[in-house]
Amino acid sequence: MATLQVCAACGDRFSELDPAVRCPCGGLLELRHDPPAEDGASLRRLFQGRLGDREEANLSGVWRYRELVLPGAGGQIVTHPEGNTPLLRRLPIAEWAGLPDLRIKHEGHNPTGSFKDRGMTVGVTQARRIGARAIACASTGNTSAALAAYGAQAGIPALVFVPAGQVALGKLSQSLAYGARTLLVRGDFDACLRLVQEAADQLGVYLLNSINPFRLEGQKTIVLELLHQLEWQAPDWIVLPAGNLGNTAAFGKALLEARALGLIDRLPRIAAVQAAGAAPFAQGFREGFAARRTVKAETIATAIKIGDPASWDRGVRTIRETDGVVTQVTDAEILEAKAVIDAAGVGCEPASAASVAGARKLREERLIPLDARVVTVLTGHVLKDPGALITYHQEMEPAPSRANRPVEIEADLRAVERVLGREGR
Ligand SMILES: *Cc1c(COP(=O)(O)O)cnc(C)c1O
Ligand SMILES: [Zn+2]
Repeated sequence: MATLQVCAACGDRFSELDPAVRCPCGGLLELRHDPPAEDGASLRRLFQGRLGDREEANLSGVWRYRELVLPGAGGQIVTHPEGNTPLLRRLPIAEWAGLPDLRIKHEGHNPTGSFKDRGMTVGVTQARRIGARAIACASTGNTSAALAAYGAQAGIPALVFVPAGQVALGKLSQSLAYGARTLLVRGDFDACLRLVQEAADQLGVYLLNSINPFRLEGQKTIVLELLHQLEWQAPDWIVLPAGNLGNTAAFGKALLEARALGLIDRLPRIAAVQAAGAAPFAQGFREGFAARRTVKAETIATAIKIGDPASWDRGVRTIRETDGVVTQVTDAEILEAKAVIDAAGVGCEPASAASVAGARKLREERLIPLDARVVTVLTGHVLKDPGALITYHQEMEPAPSRANRPVEIEADLRAVERVLGREGR
């Protein structure tokens, strides 16, 4: 077989078709693929040649890199296709962050509007390979939207556990629309995660949470695709929002593998950014990761409102191996960054803006030099959380400095003229 599942805790090995998502010892599993026969230069040519090829797998920004994702998936893949997200440069955002060479990898351009699609195309492909009769996840919203969509495409029933009253409207709507059985759990995300793990054990449902190692393989392609877009010249920094640390783990694995295969010759540093009200990993970083920390999470950025990150150990490994840092930003800083990103015509959901807010903070602290090439990752689409937008622009008192208040008028031209006149036009 082309791939093994290896326990990160005890080192035991399992076949790639073993459906358990944890080792019996409790450790998390990690996928190890046979190294491709090609060297770095040949792999770069192979990936480049697939751009513009019309074969289904090559149209996907995940499966284009399948040698590093799931080489044995063959004809079984369930793809939308996903990925192919832009790497943007936008002056107002770069200026606000104080970083002239800031780039923005916008994962909100994925089919269900977040990077979770990159993991889910692989996870649901794996569910099909092992003949799963149903799939399940706990979610702050985006994972359930992706699970619902890919489950529908594959014809596999999907079950999602979300915290009641705490899921952004766009995400909940998607789960319902794509037809997932949606359970609103009276508890927080961390309670949902415990419940879905028990349910999966008892009911024989395939678990597609971020501890699932197949999902992480798909999420690695955020990094592979952005390196490809930079013609395999590694940036100095990659900055991303961090909640459960699945993505932080995937980014580190992608970078180490890319270097080992000769795709890049140096590692960027990773900066993981948490919301101040949900920052156990940032606390752990300040303490040299001496102990695992948990908090009761509270932040407007619901996608990173996580108090007990599932991928803690592999997140730590990423930060250590890339000489990375973990920082935290307040909800006010997140909202200001988001308003700048939105008003530049780019747009993102609140959690995503933590990356740009974090980049600005690390620049202010002089940890990131002025001339650094920095890639910030926007993880989700602006329409994921319309509630947060309406609150910010229409309802908050006093109005935030970047609020764009709508003006209600009578249906006549003079009213329009009065409004425009007031604005000095
Ligand atoms: C899932 C998610 C995150 C957090 O990613 P983790 O892998 O849990 O750290 C951040 N932003 C958005 C929009 C997400 O959906
Ligand atoms: Zn083990």
